[in-house]
Amino acid sequence: MSNSVHVIGAGLAGSEAAWQLAQCGRKVILHEMRPVRNTPVHRSNFAAEIVCSNSFKSNHVSNASGVLKEEMRRLDSLIVRCADATSVPAGEALAVDRDLFSAMVTSELEQHPNIDFRRGEVTELPDGDVIIASGPLTSDSLAETIGKLTGRYDLYFYDAVAPVIESSSIDMSKVFRASRRGKGLEPDMSDDAAYLNCPLEKDEYLALVDAINAAELAPIHDFEDIKFFEACLPVEELARRGPKTLAFGPLKPIGLTDPHTGRRPYAVIQLRQENKSGSLFNMVGFQTRMKWGEQSRIFRMIPGLEKAEFVRFGVMHRNTYIHSPTLLTRNLALRTDPRIRFAGQITGVEGYLESAATGLMAGLSAAIPTLEFHRHSVLGSLASYVSEYDGPSYAPMNASWGIVDPLDGERIRDKKERGRALGQRALDAHAVLVDEVTNYRQEHSV
Ligand SMILES: Cc1cc2nc3c(=O)[nH]c(=O)nc-3n(C[C@H](O)[C@H](O)[C@H](O)COP(=O)(O)OP(=O)(O)OC[C@H]3O[C@@H](n4cnc5c(N)ncnc54)[C@H](O)[C@@H]3O)c2cc1C
Repeated sequence: MSNSVHVIGAGLAGSEAAWQLAQCGRKVILHEMRPVRNTPVHRSNFAAEIVCSNSFKSNHVSNASGVLKEEMRRLDSLIVRCADATSVPAGEALAVDRDLFSAMVTSELEQHPNIDFRRGEVTELPDGDVIIASGPLTSDSLAETIGKLTGRYDLYFYDAVAPVIESSSIDMSKVFRASRRGKGLEPDMSDDAAYLNCPLEKDEYLALVDAINAAELAPIHDFEDIKFFEACLPVEELARRGPKTLAFGPLKPIGLTDPHTGRRPYAVIQLRQENKSGSLFNMVGFQTRMKWGEQSRIFRMIPGLEKAEFVRFGVMHRNTYIHSPTLLTRNLALRTDPRIRFAGQITGVEGYLESAATGLMAGLSAAIPTLEFHRHSVLGSLASYVSEYDGPSYAPMNASWGIVDPLDGERIRDKKERGRALGQRALDAHAVLVDEVTNYRQEHSV
């Protein structure tokens, strides 16, 4: 197998990447370290083990996640096919029987004539084409190798991230646009940076702090070493230190006057633009490990955010990911050494489906290097996020309409209708690539 592609990690991304390559007629050596070496969260020896929830989220075609699945189905995705085949009732969501699902993926990979499935930890990169899909819990020695390859500072470990909100769901009549620039408080802001500010009266602030203090937190896994960075403390940790800590910290109102009242609010929650188009904003200083239900309940107490749609909730767990926007092309190849590609959560996407989606793109691109994932498709939008993100802090992202280019013309107000229109445009744009891949497979497959 001298011309084989090495895929490192048989998780959601690596399994999909190996499958796509094999279906295009390429020989694959798929390396998985379990059970020789385990991660702190995986419990089985199966490929594509899903480590927490059993949901692949919405199947609905007005939802970016539903459209992503459909785009993947049309490219013969192994992960989506096995998820469909092992689904359990979950309304509009695609949820699976996790053991049946992973067992089916494993069996398909093991039986494929083009795939040599090997167990063992990879610590150094093999020669030839390689796809690194070793996930958020990449083994330490491989993480070190990747660190050397990408430059130490491009391998990120983070503990907590703040929620991201769709800007169309923010009540603009209650918030105001302003920055503290010139007041010496935000030295890192660029010239044209501006924040949306949610003003709080004293009673609103105190009610928010009480709610945060009473919130249910996500459990900590015993592998996680909870040492907080003082510069980036979770909001609940700050609230716990005293009722005024937040008002003197990230919620300080200094330098901000509410144009609706003409005075300085008691406290201010700042929302920072997350992407170029301004469709997403993150909550400054609100990194958290509150349970997701608690986050939506409590953060909707904030004036202007009563109907907030969260495209990403705050999360906190160990994670390893590279700074893809400076490292990868749209086809997930390393700019400095295109024989090496990355896939999965390590690229800076978040979620089972998104990880599999980048695996699909990396696998197909390694087999057919000329492929272009259209920007209007959800697959292409993930590729754009990963390779072109230009905001202040690159952090893992789910598929959502917030990362897809907006529709031309007048804005469709109804959210479902807008989603349907975006979904139809995505699938239309995707059709050319589906034809190209189908033709290629007919000529080259097993
Ligand atoms: C604790 C936790 C909970 C999560 N919960 C959810 C959730 O509920 N829903 C959701 O959508 N997403 C969740 N995620 C995020 C993410 O979607 C999953 O981690 C997803 O499995 C990532 O897919 P992946 O293919 O990138 O990595 P993985 O699925 O983790 O696959 C990577 C594989 O690489 C192997 N590996 C690592 N190092 C080496 C090496 N050196 N040599 C060979 N093999 C190696 C690992 O054993 C693993 O099998 C969670 C993440 C974590 C850490």
